[in-house]
Amino acid sequence: MKRQNLLFIFWGVAFTSVALYWGVARLIGGHPISFTPGPCSEPLTYTIGDIDTRFGISENEIHAAMKKAGSLWSDATQKTLIKQAEDEGKILVRFVYDEEQEMADNELRARERIRSEQGVLDNMQARYDRDRESFDRRSERYLDLAQQTTRELDTLNDWIREINSRGGFTDEEKKEYEQRKAEVEVLQKKVLDERAALDLKARNINRKIDRINEMIDANNLLIDRYNDEFAGENRFTKATFQRTQNGGIITVNQFLSKSELPLVLAHEIGHALGLNHVSNPNSIMFSKMGAQQIYPSIQLSEEDTQAILNRCGL
Ligand SMILES: [Zn+2]
Repeated sequence: MKRQNLLFIFWGVAFTSVALYWGVARLIGGHPISFTPGPCSEPLTYTIGDIDTRFGISENEIHAAMKKAGSLWSDATQKTLIKQAEDEGKILVRFVYDEEQEMADNELRARERIRSEQGVLDNMQARYDRDRESFDRRSERYLDLAQQTTRELDTLNDWIREINSRGGFTDEEKKEYEQRKAEVEVLQKKVLDERAALDLKARNINRKIDRINEMIDANNLLIDRYNDEFAGENRFTKATFQRTQNGGIITVNQFLSKSELPLVLAHEIGHALGLNHVSNPNSIMFSKMGAQQIYPSIQLSEEDTQAILNRCGL
């Protein structure tokens, strides 16, 4: 008997790289700013105006986001630069829902779908890894058993040859031969059974791999569609700052998530404080959104800090 190898081929998993383009630049507001309120001598005050209920955000949440956004600038200068007005503030912050927010909501849904599909995929992949590990261990045991069987068979054959060369088997030896032959046959049967079991397992695992690959394809398609539909640069404006006689108006038209809102507000507050756009894409005062750090917390860039320090004459 020859040593048996597993004859089935185990296909490598074709995990294609999943390209996610979340950080695609979007316009915050390409508006020239000439507003110069002399911001650092006393805090700019703000009032929250109309909030379209379709944003699903409360006034308290907006205050919290404004506080977070304002503190970025205040911390950099060690001065309170903006605070909530007791009566009517110089800056009006309002939330005007339009189709852009609807698009943002659709975008968010598309993202969530992609994420949840990826979660399912990750689970499947983890299960596959476990199956594959247990398969590999069992396959090793199978090979050991097959080798052992081959050795026993060789030993038996050596013994038979030896006896044959001595002129053949005695009745006693023949009895021993029958017994040893039966033992080897038991082992051979075990090897064949194990081989069949492993074949079945391999087929199941291969089916899982096919399914995972199908899901990866489907998810890549979702991502392609997402990128086609939502990743256009400069496609829409999120918020604007308009200068008025006494102060200004921050109008938020959309935001993707409540963790993104402070970034949008920080940018517009920057304008309200008299800052212009800066050139580093990581900056809050960069003209487009996308490259700025949001997690674990929003940060001013070196250029943002320099800009506010210059603005305040510090
Ligand atoms: Zn801007």
